[in-house]
Amino acid sequence: MSVDSSVSKEVKPESVLLCPLGTTAAPEQKLLCIFGTGDLGRSLGQRLLQCGYRVVYGSRRPNSCGPLPRGTKAMNHEAAAMSAALVFVCVHRENYDFMEALAPQLNGKVLVDVSNNLKKNLYPESNAEYLQRLIPGAHVVKAFNTLSAWSLQNGPSDANRQVYLCGNSVQAKQAVEEMATKLGFAALDRGSLSAAGELEDFPLQLFPEWRLPLRVAVGLTAFFFFYLLMRDVVYKYVEQGKDTSFRIMVSLANKVFPIVSLIMLALCYLPGVIAGFLQLYRGTKYRRFPDWLDRWMLCRKQIGLIALGFAFLHVLYTLVIPIRYYVRFRIAENTISQIRENRTSVFDTTTAWRADSYYSMGILGFGLYVLLGISSLPSVSNALSWREFSFIQSKLGYLTVFFCTFHTYLYGWDRFLHPNTYKWFTPPGYLLSLVVPSVLIVLKLLLLLPCVDRSLTRIRQGWERTDPEDGSEKALLT
Ligand code: NAP
Repeated sequence: MSVDSSVSKEVKPESVLLCPLGTTAAPEQKLLCIFGTGDLGRSLGQRLLQCGYRVVYGSRRPNSCGPLPRGTKAMNHEAAAMSAALVFVCVHRENYDFMEALAPQLNGKVLVDVSNNLKKNLYPESNAEYLQRLIPGAHVVKAFNTLSAWSLQNGPSDANRQVYLCGNSVQAKQAVEEMATKLGFAALDRGSLSAAGELEDFPLQLFPEWRLPLRVAVGLTAFFFFYLLMRDVVYKYVEQGKDTSFRIMVSLANKVFPIVSLIMLALCYLPGVIAGFLQLYRGTKYRRFPDWLDRWMLCRKQIGLIALGFAFLHVLYTLVIPIRYYVRFRIAENTISQIRENRTSVFDTTTAWRADSYYSMGILGFGLYVLLGISSLPSVSNALSWREFSFIQSKLGYLTVFFCTFHTYLYGWDRFLHPNTYKWFTPPGYLLSLVVPSVLIVLKLLLLLPCVDRSLTRIRQGWERTDPEDGSEKALLT
């Protein structure tokens, strides 16, 4: 592996070459340099070698830096920097200072900053901007920081195929983009180096769009669990002296899950309806929604998927009902008492209709629920046209809300009329769960009224209601 010390002198500041000069004539593999022989440096070197590059390491201890990928070589930073036109900086930001002294050797070279930080806003400027400030003559490109050493070593997979990059030099970005493509990644240009801070924040994010839906789900689950615990267990113990605490495991859970599922399903569709009314009220679609509504709309998919998860749990808990000891005991007890007392219960057609309709609505609702979940998978939604996707998510979505709400109404039937269901003056849980979906259905029906629907469709097609006394809507268009 030859080291060409004339490279830095001959490379003009705006020209970016991946091959050391003097070797371009021969069809030789390109030589790249990596500063740092740590986890990322070694994984990256391994991957570059596998994809046909030659690699040289710049290290503080070139003779004792531990095992490196076979076929690579370690040198001191200065020699390594001069040997290649592109240098990966696989060193933590806190240790960047040593590069200041290498400014002459790094002048005109592409410096790929792969670093991340432990926390957001730790420094006033991004690591890549800091590196650019240390070596103003180099072309700093922020890239590869969203990949782990492990994924670099193993090659791209569906989950981490993308390499985000940004930088001020178009040629430098092109050089990094080409190399990323050769390594099997898809490069996504995020603009100038000022976007580096945003890229450095990416790996610190922990399910950002799931946070709000999960908080809502946990809050609702906790509230309904304690509400039903008080009504179904504590009330019985205090008022009747009966210990029904065993109901917590299945009965209570199988009440909480469908309640949370139904409310979350309604919450998934409610912001769309609110947005519709807001547009009708404002008479335009060109005004931004309030922030809270924007945030709510953006996490509808996650709300829907959590609702589906709770619906799955409800189905599973319902399936075990017939094998429960408590249920088998009650059936046997009832049969034996009928035999003893020589009496037969009369078949009630209304109850049969009600029970069958209740199950049927539940099954249909769950079937559509699953369809909504499947169609939200990227691989499925990508295969659908926009019209097909919105038909499933909107029309079938509202049908799902309707089936599930009706299923709950049938479950309650006329129980809400009986005073003994209001234990300690509290309404039963299912009644509370019906509030949001019922409001949603009523609002949606109002939006479907022909005169309202016509106005909303026109607004969504760009029509604006201009108020002669207030020119604010017009001003928004200019
Ligand atoms: P690491 O295992 O700690 O390696 C860092 C390397 O930097 C060391 O092996 C050392 O190499 C060099 N170094 C340490 N102190 C130095 C100093 N004072 N002056 C000059 N060089 C020094 O860290 P890493 O996991 O490879 O991470 C390197 C960079 O990649 C970090 O900025 C990190 O945020 C980023 N990153 C890492 C991963 C990952 O999965 N590990 C993923 C994305 C981004 P020598 O002994 O050879 O000089």
